[in-house]
Amino acid sequence: MNPIDIIRAKRDGRQLSVEQINWFVQHYADGTGVGDDQAAAMAMAIYFQGLDETELAAWTGAMINSGARLDLRGLARPTVDKHSTGGVGDKISLILVPLLVACGAAVPQLSGRGLGHTGGTLDKMEAIAGWRAKLSVDELRHVLATVGGVIAAATDDLAPADAKLYALRDVTSTVDSIPLIASSIMSKKIAEGTSALVLDVKAGSGAFMTDVDDARELARTMVGLGQAHGVATSALITPMNNVLGRAVGNSLEVAEALDVLDGGGPADVVALTVALATEMVRLVNLDIDPGEVLASGRARPVFDKIVAAQGGDLSLGLPVAPHTLMVPATRAGFVNAVQAMPVGVAAWRLGAGRAAQGDTVSATAGVLSLVAVGDEVVEGQPVLELHAERPDRFTEITGLVEQAVVVGDTPAEVEPVIIDRITGSG
Ligand code: URA
Repeated sequence: MNPIDIIRAKRDGRQLSVEQINWFVQHYADGTGVGDDQAAAMAMAIYFQGLDETELAAWTGAMINSGARLDLRGLARPTVDKHSTGGVGDKISLILVPLLVACGAAVPQLSGRGLGHTGGTLDKMEAIAGWRAKLSVDELRHVLATVGGVIAAATDDLAPADAKLYALRDVTSTVDSIPLIASSIMSKKIAEGTSALVLDVKAGSGAFMTDVDDARELARTMVGLGQAHGVATSALITPMNNVLGRAVGNSLEVAEALDVLDGGGPADVVALTVALATEMVRLVNLDIDPGEVLASGRARPVFDKIVAAQGGDLSLGLPVAPHTLMVPATRAGFVNAVQAMPVGVAAWRLGAGRAAQGDTVSATAGVLSLVAVGDEVVEGQPVLELHAERPDRFTEITGLVEQAVVVGDTPAEVEPVIIDRITGSG
């Protein structure tokens, strides 16, 4: 086989055989016979021609087989995990992992870092003094077996073909292709060894997928891939037009997650956490009410144990930014939106995110919303609180944050927590 024939076949809209796909992905992962230039051309061909169901299953299988697949079957508890396609203020994983453990499941949450305006779970957890994201496979298994849940960086040997291809897609404008996104996410989650998976597919102006129908198609594609690989999978389509909760930024989001774990916190964060947790306990047949467990505070000591098992020390307190600045409401009225995109970009530019992979992030930078959709405000009332390590950071984002909180004459409808639910049966 040779890569040029395979690229040409896809470019011209012909179906690739399983053998061609396996050959292409394996040789790209190994660095033998398929170069970055050829993989980039293939990604662009797939971007325009798509992959049919058989091709997509083969492509995803080849990405999984490019590395190791963790075997977590020896654990006493059923394994279940969650993946979010990324949003602004999305600290749900920090709450869900200990909550599901408190409900009786084991949760192997292998996460990523933020890129662009969306945050990443590992960056948030690293705001906790001493906490370590990188664990060996033996350490991962040990924390899972003893504590019940682990939040860690995916190990280098899980779907290595995806790591290479994702970096390439990022610089060749081929990220936003449904088959490429679905195979990328699912190859990592299937390789992680979980027996069940709930996907939080975000739709809206602050999400990867702005259109709800595209989000539905992505969700259906990922659910199908999970089922095909023996992972009980379902998806919730959830809105991402407004900031989730009040806090955006690493340490600020950990603080909000702790509030929720202690039985408080913003209503939308609690509602989405409970909706996802309900789906997760259903998939692993645990007869328990996660809403009741969360409200009781029983998940909080589990979070503390996960942190301690990975070297973190919450007794030192969370770091706080040395500089803050208030943003006032531009007029009186009702808050109609706290827009995810400008707030996410503002938090990123304040230092909470990175411009390129490998950059360091600030633990303390971010944006705190002082209002929620539906609140009545007077002109000049502080609506956002900006946090930064250096005051000159504030001047870079004034235009962005001034328009982020939309105030209207009448109260807007509060968005539903769930737009749709996609299960294995359709
Ligand atoms: N997240 C991933 O892991 N892969 C994609 O392709 C997009 C988002």
